Amino acid sequence: MRPPPPVRAAARARQEARDHGDDTARDRLTAQIHAAGWLVSDTPDGYALEPRRSRELAAIPLAQHTTLRLGGPARRLAVAQTEADLVDVLRGADASGEPVLILGGGSNIVVADEGFDGLVVQVATDGVERSDARVTVAAGEPWDGVVEQVVAEGLVGVEALAGIPGLVGATPIQNVGAYGQEVAQTIASVRVLDRRTGEVGTMSADACRFTYRHSAFKGGHDHVVLAVTFDLHEAPAGGAVRYPALAAHLGVEVGATVPAAEVRAAVLDLRRAKGMVLDAADHDTWSVGSFFTNPILGADEVAGLPAAAPRWPERDGQVKVSAAWLIEQAGFAKGYGAGPAQVSGKHTLALTNRGSATTADLLALAREIRDGVRDRFGVTLVQEPVLVGVTL
Ligand SMILES: Cc1cc2nc3c(=O)[nH]c(=O)nc-3n(C[C@H](O)[C@H](O)[C@H](O)COP(=O)(O)OP(=O)(O)OC[C@H]3O[C@@H](n4cnc5c(N)ncnc54)[C@H](O)[C@@H]3O)c2cc1C
Repeated sequence: MRPPPPVRAAARARQEARDHGDDTARDRLTAQIHAAGWLVSDTPDGYALEPRRSRELAAIPLAQHTTLRLGGPARRLAVAQTEADLVDVLRGADASGEPVLILGGGSNIVVADEGFDGLVVQVATDGVERSDARVTVAAGEPWDGVVEQVVAEGLVGVEALAGIPGLVGATPIQNVGAYGQEVAQTIASVRVLDRRTGEVGTMSADACRFTYRHSAFKGGHDHVVLAVTFDLHEAPAGGAVRYPALAAHLGVEVGATVPAAEVRAAVLDLRRAKGMVLDAADHDTWSVGSFFTNPILGADEVAGLPAAAPRWPERDGQVKVSAAWLIEQAGFAKGYGAGPAQVSGKHTLALTNRGSATTADLLALAREIRDGVRDRFGVTLVQEPVLVGVTL
């Protein structure tokens, strides 16, 4: 499709403005082109124009977009490369009542073998803006790259979250956490599209209602995260190490201050050893990370567990118990399973696709483990990933 003459004229004027360093005029013309339904980008020899409507791809298996390599086809898949595009596509789909699945890196979803009968919107927006220690990141930026960048710039606050797959926009959904940090500690606000009203607005961290691997967003469909603002710290000496295994690996006491770059490197070491850094050649990483969350139990329930069960105090007298311990003691060791879906050989909580599994295979394994733990300890484990078109 050839752009109409006014759009081409605006693109030429924009290029001149850019060449003269006139950012105000360039931005105004970019917005004008955008409003006319086109996207303009810089190329080495000028500019390129493409229709603003999202790139829409034919139905391809969602298995190609999930770290489990599982999931049937979507009816339609659109790739939204700008925030305006993302908002447009969603408003359009919502107005027509079409079911929508927002897709980030596909590292925390389990999609039915039958696929998704609706529009999958893949978030592919980009951009990182820094103002002092405040960093605002577009939802489509890969999370691990952002961690690497802010650590390299001397900022502290997310270094223990290195190696977590997926995109920034998904980090608030389940309040991602690892090695003593979680994003709730540093998120200042989240820019969202409210799909009920079609309005774009900002939610404070309080409004996100973050708890352990949960938030106001998880399992819901009302909000789409467009960007996340993190309040980090400028601290060349680093931050306090809170997680015992991480402190041990670094050779320091819990609470010691360690430079963020060292913490990040240590976390990546620990994660690799557990198959928790994506590696296409290693089936132990064909997972969603931990499949089950650590159960948070009341005093009565905990009293019934063996004294050896690892546990950590939570708010209101509740206690978090190690799901990995319960699973192992119920008879599901690392590597458990004879079929194409097995417990990872490196981590008891990761359920993996050995290459030829289906979603049905994976869920059968998950049910066997959940039921085994319930029969042995009376505790019902809850899954961490979002289930799409299936139930456990
Ligand atoms: C090897 C491995 C290790 C992992 N380790 C950890 C870990 O240490 N700690 C941890 O917390 N998690 C971990 N995870 C889980 C996962 O990486 C995180 O939950 C991650 O944040 C998911 O990001 P994603 O972009 O892949 O989300 P997706 O899987 O694409 O989506 C997850 C959910 O969020 C929704 N969603 C995604 N983007 C948006 C958006 N912009 N707006 C609204 N909704 C959205 C989706 O619709 C879906 O419901 C791990 C996963 C793997 C495979």
